Amino acid sequence: MDIEKKFAETLKKIKINKKSKIIVALSGGKDSTVTAFLLKKLGYNIEGFHIDLKIGGYSERCLAAVKELCEQIGIKLHLYDIKKEMGSSMCYIRGGIQEKAKGNIKNCAICGVIKKWIINKHVRELKVKADYIATGHNLDDESQTFLMNIFKGSPKLSANLGAVTRNVADKKFIPRLKPLFYIPEDEIREYAKAHKLPIVYEKCPCALDSYRIQVRSFVQKLSEKEKQNIIKNFEALTPRIQKTKDTRMRYCECCGEPSRNRICKMCELMRI
Ligand code: SF4
Ligand SMILES: [Zn+2]
Repeated sequence: MDIEKKFAETLKKIKINKKSKIIVALSGGKDSTVTAFLLKKLGYNIEGFHIDLKIGGYSERCLAAVKELCEQIGIKLHLYDIKKEMGSSMCYIRGGIQEKAKGNIKNCAICGVIKKWIINKHVRELKVKADYIATGHNLDDESQTFLMNIFKGSPKLSANLGAVTRNVADKKFIPRLKPLFYIPEDEIREYAKAHKLPIVYEKCPCALDSYRIQVRSFVQKLSEKEKQNIIKNFEALTPRIQKTKDTRMRYCECCGEPSRNRICKMCELMRI
């Protein structure tokens, strides 16, 4: 089945209404670009959101690609400039945290937590009321996450995986949508190239050392069928995982954002 059909079927399966307002978290990479391109092509009501992380020339190229895409498909783009809003580039913020933590936290672990916090808070604060935040997570990413949670001995962390988050009902949390959930990375790359979409294909210069990179090289060697089987196993286990999980959301005592714990991960990093 081709990628456009798989994409449309995923959205049908999880019953996403075409009138829902979807904000696509655009990074400039192939996955989020294809997500926005296909959502728009299928007639969904979307706008874009991009965090300019100020990681040198790499971020400049990402920003240029995101602007070009939004112009090309005719959608509004919301920009978040990390230097203006938080006072420093991602590299500088991350370096400060790592220095205090004696280098024990990996680059992507810090950057990922900060980006998630920014996206939920700032998309929620946009004038337009967002029903979903769409991300470009694909079949490879999701199989990696499911396996990583098992390897870490924490399968419960997978309770929020899936093409849409439905188990968190909280006015401050915007549900996530992953229309590429069942589509392998290679097919997305092929599609993006065939359609000549404006994309930054180079790797982020800070993606050096994460545990995910090790798991990714393992998952990359699997066939599409094997990756689909990982997800099938995940879907079969989900109802049981969700029953054991405390799905109540609380609010961080420092910043007031939704959090599973007393202090959210973002504030934990900032307090190190
Ligand atoms: S690859 Fe890692 S460091 Fe680079 S933008 Fe992504 S999460 Fe941040
Ligand atoms: Zn917090």
